[in-house]
Formats: sequence, structure tokens, C-alpha cells
Amino acid sequence: MSVEKSVPNVASGNHDNQQDKTADLVRSELEGQFYVNRLRLRFDGALEARYRRYCGLRDRRYIRQLVNILIGLYFLYGIFDWMMLGPLVEPIYKIRYAMGMPGLIAVWFLVHTRKLDLYQDKLVVLGLFWLSVTTLTMVRVVPEEHKGLYLLSELAIIMAGITIGRMRFWPALSSAALFVVSYLLILFPDGTRNTFLLYYLFLSSGAVGLCLLAQYSADRSSRREFLQKLLIHRKNQQLKKLNSRLKDLAEVDPLTGIGNRRSFDQVLDEEWRRARRRGYNLAMLMCDIDYFKSYNDSFGHQQGDLCIKQVAQCMKQMVRRPGDLVARYGGEEFAVILPALDVEEAANIARVICQGVRDLRLPHPMSPVNDHVTISVGVAALVPDERLAAGDLVGFADEALYFAKKSGRNRIQVYRPEMSSNR
Ligand code: GH3
Ligand code: MG
Ligand code: MG
Repeated sequence: MSVEKSVPNVASGNHDNQQDKTADLVRSELEGQFYVNRLRLRFDGALEARYRRYCGLRDRRYIRQLVNILIGLYFLYGIFDWMMLGPLVEPIYKIRYAMGMPGLIAVWFLVHTRKLDLYQDKLVVLGLFWLSVTTLTMVRVVPEEHKGLYLLSELAIIMAGITIGRMRFWPALSSAALFVVSYLLILFPDGTRNTFLLYYLFLSSGAVGLCLLAQYSADRSSRREFLQKLLIHRKNQQLKKLNSRLKDLAEVDPLTGIGNRRSFDQVLDEEWRRARRRGYNLAMLMCDIDYFKSYNDSFGHQQGDLCIKQVAQCMKQMVRRPGDLVARYGGEEFAVILPALDVEEAANIARVICQGVRDLRLPHPMSPVNDHVTISVGVAALVPDERLAAGDLVGFADEALYFAKKSGRNRIQVYRPEMSSNR
């Protein structure tokens, strides 16, 4: 089932009553799609497992701290036993420390085991069960006049456990059921009738039932919150994907997969300003495939497209520093932006690129300069200042390219100022 299908209406505002009711109806109908259980507190399939992981992560620290506090209290309550029972305390101490403590310490270890995060609420059930069993055993042992107090603490334990134990509803229900069963088994071992204890069980069950109602509603809210987070997460993922597709459409040249003219203009502007601020060089290469018109004439435009693509990919592989950019400037021309390189370093890169394209060994029988496809490269580098604009750097690299073409192609040419006047 697709989670996107159902988006619970999360918005809440000052709608009038009628609108609120309609929104509630729509929401509960949509939410219903996620649930499998008739009482609607169990998600469908893998979603339930995901919810448990979510709860496990969310409540891990809380449950651990709760168990720490609980064990501390359980230990300290020995003082209370001693104050109440004086010399009669021995059997109670045996139950509390020899029977109760080891069990609780075992639960402590289980709760602190990272692998068991998924079973957190089962561990809470186990811990509560063990507390119940030991406290009820104490009830059995203490003198009649103290039974009430121990029963009260048993009720407090189970009520608090169900409400603050952050269990899902069903484990909470099993906790309550275990309480009733252990109550009956421990306090009515041979079917003896004790009206006080029965009456007490009746009252306790009512109170525990109310706690279960509270837990039911807490579980529902927690599930709703989980669904909302999940849906927001999904929507964010979709938006991220769409954004990156849009970015590609806006910045990537579809034929070659390298930057397009727009990304070239943008990066040039950014790098120009950065280099000006920091006072370092900005270098540029203008590259053009030699005699490409005749390549198209020989092999057709489709093969020509393939050639442009291969040359572009080859250039991209050779210019890999972060911050460098290879972009298709237009037709069979490419521009390379190389921040923080001086003209000699840029010329070296240009030579490597030229050689790289020759090494592709794409046959070009009509080229007068080589049997294979070649490129010419114009190189320019300068430290930007306020008298110059980014367009000047492009112009200089272009001048150098013009000279590379004029002086025979299949070569690199570094820009020199006298070129502008000689043209
Ligand atoms: P030069 O050595 O002086 O650069 O010669 P050239 O033939 O490469 O130069 P010119 O600029 O005259 O020709 C460029 C050719 O590139 C013209 C055009 O048909 C071809 N061209 C431009 N864009 C594309 C494209 O996207 N695909 C193909 N197949 N050809 C293209
Ligand atoms: Mg050209
Ligand atoms: Mg050309």
C-alpha cells in the first residue's frame, strides 16, 4: 500500500465546528488505510515493524532511565519494609533482594542491550510482571494489618507502569492481564475465598482499565505522530528528487552530460568574485574541435553528436579538482574554468586535455592536421580586479583560441596582450 496515498490532515486551526468534524472524518478514514487491526492499533505489514523501530529509537534513553530509577526505588523501599515490619522484615527482604533484585537486574541488562531495542515494550511488560510477582508474594507473607499497604504499592506499580512505560496498547493490555492472573495465582493459591482481596482485585481492575484507556489514546496519538513524520519525510524525499532533477535540467547539457552554458555563466560569476576577493588567479580554457564541419560531412550529424559527447566526457575526466568546471559553451566548443591556477599551470592542463582527445583516436579522415579528431585550446589566466570583468577573461581565452586555430590547430595557445591589437 502506498503511504503517499493517504495524507492525514495535519493542519489545525480555528476552523468552525462543522469543518473540524469533516476534517476529522476524512482523517480517520485516511488513517484507517494504514491499520490492519480491527481496533486499529496495529499497522499493516512492514509499517508496524518500522513503527516499532521508531519507538525503540525514540524511547531508548527514556526507558533506560525509567528502569534505573525503578530499580533504585525498589532497592530503597527496603527501608520502608524495615520501618513497617521491624524484626518481622526478614522474609520480605528475602523476597525483595534474593528474588526480586536478580530478576530486575536481568531486565536492566536486557534493556541496556542495543539489539533488543525493538523489544523494548516486551521488556517493560517483563519488568512489570516481575515487580508484580514479587510484590504480591510480599503481600502473601506480610501480617494481615500491613497487606493493604503492600497491595496499594502493587496497584501503584501497575498503574504507573502502564501509563508511563510508553508501551504500545497491546503490550500494555498483556501487562494488565498478567497482573490479574498473577494476583489470582499468588493470592488465591488453593481457591480460598477472601472477600477483601477479591474486592480489592475488582477495584484495582477498574483503575487499571482506566489506565489502559489512557494508554490506548496515547498509543493512537503516537501512531498519528509517526504517520505524520513519515509522510513529511516522504514528501521531503520527493521534493529533494524533484529539485535535483530540476537542477540537472537547468544546469546540465543533455547531449554531453557536462555543465551547460547557464551553469558556465553562473560558476564564472561566482569564481570571478571569489578570486577577486581573495586576490588569486582565475584561469580559463576555450576549446574547439578542429574541422568539425567536415567531420559531420564525413560521418553525419548523429556520429558528430557522439563525437562531441566523447570529447566532453574525456575533458571532464581530466579536470577533476573540486571547483573546476567543464561546460559546453556552444556547438563543438567547450569552456573550462580553473580557479587558483596561473597561466603556466592552466597551459599544462590544456596540453593534457589536447593529448587526451588525440588519445581517443576517433578517426577523422578529412582533417588536414591529424588522422584523428583533435582540438585547439586558448588559455588565459589573470587576477581579477575592478578594471576587468569576467567577460574579459572569456574574451582573452577566445583570442588565444583564434590564434591557435590560425597557427595550425591541434595545439594550445596562451593569451598574450598583443594578440588583441594584432587581430
Ligand atoms: P574549426 O577547426 O575552425 O573549428 O572548424 P570547424 O568546422 O569545427 O568550425 P565551424 O565553427 O565552422 O563548424 C562547427 C560545426 O559544428 C558546424 C556545425 O554543423 C557543427 N555543430 C555544432 N553543434 C553541433 C552539434 O550539436 N552536433 C553536431 N553533430 N554538429 C554540431
Ligand atoms: Mg566552433
Ligand atoms: Mg571547430
